[in-house]
Amino acid sequence: MTLTKTDFKEYLLCSKCLWLKKKRPEEYTAGEFSLFLQKLIKDGYEVEEYVQKLFPGGVFVSGNKETLMSRTKELLQDTKPIFQATFETSEGLFAKIDILNFNIETGKWDLYEVKASSEIKTDLKHNHIKDVGFQTIVAERAGVNVGQSYLIYINKEYRRSGEVDIDELFIVEDVTERLQEEKEEVKNEIVNALALLKEENISLSECSCLYKSHGQRCDCFFKFNPQVPEYSVHHIVQGNKLRLLLDQDILEIADIPEDFDLTDIQRDKVHLQKTGRAMINTDAISETLSRLVFPIYFLDYETYGTPIPLLDGYKTNQQIVFQVSVHKLQKDGTLEHFEYLAGELQGATKGLLEMLKTCVGPVGSILVWYESFEKGRNMELAELHPEYREFLEDINKRIFDLMKIFKDDYQHPDFYGSASIKKVLPVLLPELSYKSLDIQNGTMALSEWENMIRGGMSDFEIQKTKENLLKYCALDTMAMVEIFKAIS
Ligand code: SF4
Repeated sequence: MTLTKTDFKEYLLCSKCLWLKKKRPEEYTAGEFSLFLQKLIKDGYEVEEYVQKLFPGGVFVSGNKETLMSRTKELLQDTKPIFQATFETSEGLFAKIDILNFNIETGKWDLYEVKASSEIKTDLKHNHIKDVGFQTIVAERAGVNVGQSYLIYINKEYRRSGEVDIDELFIVEDVTERLQEEKEEVKNEIVNALALLKEENISLSECSCLYKSHGQRCDCFFKFNPQVPEYSVHHIVQGNKLRLLLDQDILEIADIPEDFDLTDIQRDKVHLQKTGRAMINTDAISETLSRLVFPIYFLDYETYGTPIPLLDGYKTNQQIVFQVSVHKLQKDGTLEHFEYLAGELQGATKGLLEMLKTCVGPVGSILVWYESFEKGRNMELAELHPEYREFLEDINKRIFDLMKIFKDDYQHPDFYGSASIKKVLPVLLPELSYKSLDIQNGTMALSEWENMIRGGMSDFEIQKTKENLLKYCALDTMAMVEIFKAIS
């Protein structure tokens, strides 16, 4: 069984998780964390294509595993840069190196790893030094005379203007010395990872995240801890307090003893689960809503960002606002709907702002869910389109975050401690569901839009995608309208 760089990264995060994925793939549940890793890989490929332009005359290695390795051997006899040089060692390590570049002065191959990131990261989730360490060790063990090791990442200050300027876009950093400090550690970790993959069985009952907060879990948590409910004591306390409860086999929030040391906020959350009844501060809600001014606009954006900026004026991963839905509610209950969906990249935000200006008048509150998102995008749009700055700043002044009510004055045991619209809506208005839609969340929306603007879809597919995107975004604002009515 081979150990790739991705496997090694997963091993560093959690050995149990890697073992399950490699040895019992049928029991491994890919979820949010896997999607996160897939996105990293996809972003990486996109960036690599641009980075390769920094090495003119380079040869891309492709084909099946055998071809990749034999072609790599051939190319190592020459001095042209090699993209995706591939190696497998006798102990089972497998690596595809982003770039090997022959250094005429040293007579060695310098190794480059490309990251779709705007800095060198060394946290548990992305340890770039260990990534390049793994690749360097595999190349050396496969017989390559490796010189310096480099990381190439994105300059976060770069703003696109016309064609991408690859010399400005990328930062190339020599990390050979940093790697030397960690090389022995990486070697030991590789030994341990290979040993783990030889194990035929490991304990599948419990894993160390049982004692950590719920935010640190991977997709396998419930495989190892099936006894833990979806909303558990992990959502209330952490550290020693969590351990104290677990040592008494207390997993349900409702089972936390009355005299357990908790803050007021924690105690409210426990009370909610014990009684099973919503806690609604109707006076405070009425007071908050009375400050809103009709007509009330319900606003929602969909956005799309890429590591390599696609449009002029954009930085790495800056979000392009490609879609908006607005519901306008008058005091007499009249409701109008406005929407915009960019059919192509160029002019996407200009068209959106033109439409927004025609439907959002000078008076009225603007309701969003999670204000920092829409406010942040508005400020970025104001930078890109200064002629709309005043309008966008005025929108931001009029924004009210409907989510605040569900943080402060309306709690329900079935929200599971969250104020997200995806948790609130099914409880308050189960009939208004995203489940019947082809697009059910923001990640799906941006990926569908990406497929549409990148070309290759038939007219029928484009039409269908547009309909699905419009339905999804319209439901986001319609959901806010109905929630607003439900609490008014
Ligand atoms: S939840 Fe368990 S399997 Fe997943 S990272 Fe944590 S310890 Fe590992």
